[in-house]
Amino acid sequence: MSGEKKYFYGPVPSRRLGLSFGIDIVPFKVCTLDCIYCQLGKSTDLTIERSNYGPIEPILVELKEILSKGLKTEFITIAGSGEPTLNLQLGKLIEGIKKVTDIPVAILTNGTLFYKEDVRVDCAKADVVIPSLDAGDAETFQKVNRPHRDINIENLISGLSEFRNEFSGQIWLEVFFVESLNTKSDQIAKIRNAIDRIRPDKVQLNTAVRPTAEPNLKRLDIEALRTIAAQLGPQCEIIADVSTLHHVKYSKNKAENVLSILKRRPCSLNDISSGLGIDRNEAMKYIRDLQQQGLIHSKHKDGIIFFKVN
Ligand code: SF4
Repeated sequence: MSGEKKYFYGPVPSRRLGLSFGIDIVPFKVCTLDCIYCQLGKSTDLTIERSNYGPIEPILVELKEILSKGLKTEFITIAGSGEPTLNLQLGKLIEGIKKVTDIPVAILTNGTLFYKEDVRVDCAKADVVIPSLDAGDAETFQKVNRPHRDINIENLISGLSEFRNEFSGQIWLEVFFVESLNTKSDQIAKIRNAIDRIRPDKVQLNTAVRPTAEPNLKRLDIEALRTIAAQLGPQCEIIADVSTLHHVKYSKNKAENVLSILKRRPCSLNDISSGLGIDRNEAMKYIRDLQQQGLIHSKHKDGIIFFKVN
């Protein structure tokens, strides 16, 4: 199926969403922020203006075709090579998706435009909204997220808390930590205050595991993440790729093992995790990495997703 798709990608395994079928709705790299840790590199178009980025009808036509062949995924995830709420058609797109499928829709967003009512109205059509918040104070926000000059941290926090009042679906707030930049106890206390105002259903902690826009960023180790999780409250979980944090070399061997199994025959996620004696989340990590390198793709047969070498 992967060769036929123009707009959608996946389904890809995701630590937060299980199997996720994705669509990017803003071009590289249009964003309201220029985060120091961005895995896409520097923002080339720093803006807060929402725009049209092409018609949504062909996207929905493609989705219908894919659904008619039997799509197995836990979420349809709207993201972007930048900030997806900058796309003016976001609400119409979600409405269109909802007309053709019951698969839940998730949005990955940096949360900066929720002070705008039209953005909140659009996002409220989704089932799960996954915003980011890496700072509770203006100085840290500037250092970590390098926002457009018309974005400020108070707008971000009050916009998300307003959205919480209006939205009955799930809000999973991601907090990304970079050692020495947003990890001091007073900074964490301010993030906690912001979380108390936003009242998300989950708080998910991440750190710089992959290559980032600025080199030499320090990631946190698992103990440091656990300590912060305890400070941020009971709804907090760690989503950083913990196995990578512990055993970088060993992980590379395991990724090669996954690839060599798939060279022999197509396998499901369960085949790989039981074949290598690793848990499903860890197996997902290697599969996702191999997919991102363009070495493997997914195909479903009789309701099961199989992974195959390209
Ligand atoms: S908000 Fe996301 S896409 Fe935009 S700069 Fe930050 S990490 Fe990159």
